[in-house]
Amino acid sequence: METHSGNVLLLATGGSIAQTSPNDPTLTGEALLEAIPKLRGSANVRVEQIAQVSSPDITIENWLQLANRINTALADDHIEGVVVTHGTDTLEETAYFLNLVVQSDKPVVVAGAMRRPYSLGADGAANLYNAVSIASSTGAKGRGVLVTLNGEIHSARDVTKTTSNLDAFRSPNFGPLGFLVDDRARFYRSLERRHTKNSVFHIEAGVLPSVAIVYGYADVAPDILEAVIAAGYKGIVWAGTGSGSVPKSIRLAAAKAVREGVVFVRASRINSAPIKRNDEVDDHALGFVTADSLNPQKARVLLMLSLAQTSDPLEIQELFDTH
Ligand code: ASP
Repeated sequence: METHSGNVLLLATGGSIAQTSPNDPTLTGEALLEAIPKLRGSANVRVEQIAQVSSPDITIENWLQLANRINTALADDHIEGVVVTHGTDTLEETAYFLNLVVQSDKPVVVAGAMRRPYSLGADGAANLYNAVSIASSTGAKGRGVLVTLNGEIHSARDVTKTTSNLDAFRSPNFGPLGFLVDDRARFYRSLERRHTKNSVFHIEAGVLPSVAIVYGYADVAPDILEAVIAAGYKGIVWAGTGSGSVPKSIRLAAAKAVREGVVFVRASRINSAPIKRNDEVDDHALGFVTADSLNPQKARVLLMLSLAQTSDPLEIQELFDTH
């Protein structure tokens, strides 16, 4: 039998992996472990229930709670790694938040399931088993927060949910960092951007500045953007077409918001390669920030954390270019 030597902390939050009926993620973290006989007696996994929700209901308060718990746990010499179980819909946002604020190089692995436990071919048990295996492996150390489903290991920064199939989680433009081979983590590359111990972010602040995402489409009118600005959001991520383009109809309203102190980040609604600065849009003159290769939902996470430190667009650009 495959053995795991590590002491791993499992933080359960709900999601389809814990879903016993179409509407209820009621299985506890304990129950999830119980369903994996292969883990019993091999890994030493302690469980704490952080939430019991479907992931569209995950809140920033949950993120802060998870981050605080992980930071305390990983400061303990006896804990080698942390696994978080999470619904797949917002999994990438939680994972990227943790990637920016966890203060340890020990493994943190986020896992979910595309099929519920009562479905034929349910993937939750395998994904959780793999997550524990990765969290107790030395190879995972120092690679930032990781996400595993479908036998793949992805960086929290790059991964996104792309479909509703078993292979839903992909890292467009980059690919996975590694795979599970014979139940063991095998890595082929690392994340170059700053993360965990090397990120500049902390979570001392209990509240994060509000950031909204506004979607771009053909013939978009500025009224939605103007309503978001009027609502007092400190930052706006523009989920633009193609390489984050901003139509002329939007530029005026966006530039006015920037002059009033709102930070406007240009991202893309497609899985774009890095957004090019000052290409078609004069970002420098308009005071816009570009999201590099982050999708809009991840750009929002980074912008919230950045705004807790500064509202200077050039300083924020530097954070987007490095994290
Ligand atoms: N509704 C679920 C959630 O995100 C979907 C899933 O976990 O796959 O919590």
